[in-house]
Amino acid sequence: MSNKDIIKLRKQLEKELDQSRFEHSLGVEYTSACMAFLYGEDVEKARVAGLLHDCAKCMDDDDKIKIMEKSGFPPLQEELDNHSLLHAKCGAIVARDDYDIEDEDILNAIRFHTVGRPNMSVLEKIVYVADFIEPCRKKLMIMDGVRKAAFTDLDQALLWIMESVTGYVQSQGKPVAPSSIAAYEYYKNQIKPDMSLRNI
Ligand code: FE
Ligand code: FE
Repeated sequence: MSNKDIIKLRKQLEKELDQSRFEHSLGVEYTSACMAFLYGEDVEKARVAGLLHDCAKCMDDDDKIKIMEKSGFPPLQEELDNHSLLHAKCGAIVARDDYDIEDEDILNAIRFHTVGRPNMSVLEKIVYVADFIEPCRKKLMIMDGVRKAAFTDLDQALLWIMESVTGYVQSQGKPVAPSSIAAYEYYKNQIKPDMSLRNI
């Protein structure tokens, strides 16, 4: 995919998102690109996945559900219980059908950017982490540390974000989606947290 193609995708996306969501998407595009430099991932793929990860975010929830049902990926119960999860899987369908993205790794990075999954590809991890750390994001207490970890050890950053997101959802008294728990448990068993990265 050429730079010209990416600019075309951007123009198309801008019409579908509100301004702050579009700015966020550009932030994820560039952050994903920088992480791709470091982790040896295809830079264009990282840009496209980062740019389009929230392409379905501003659609009506009912429309998201309809699109998912029509294309043979009906929402899971956890997505019906928490509508903020719908845009990820729906986004992969919209990216394929409306933005003509065929690359499975890009589509999976969009599909799993909210809950993650066990055994994620490097591109999936990059978009998951970039979504959390991009420059427009609200500055959370752990943000400086996570941003540094993202450019030091991708798995450590991933684990830290999963831990933080899971903890946050629980602190709100909401149930954590079973898919998020499965992903978090998988990485918790795989990776020992490097506390030295967290002491900054
Ligand atoms: Fe999202
Ligand atoms: Fe996002």
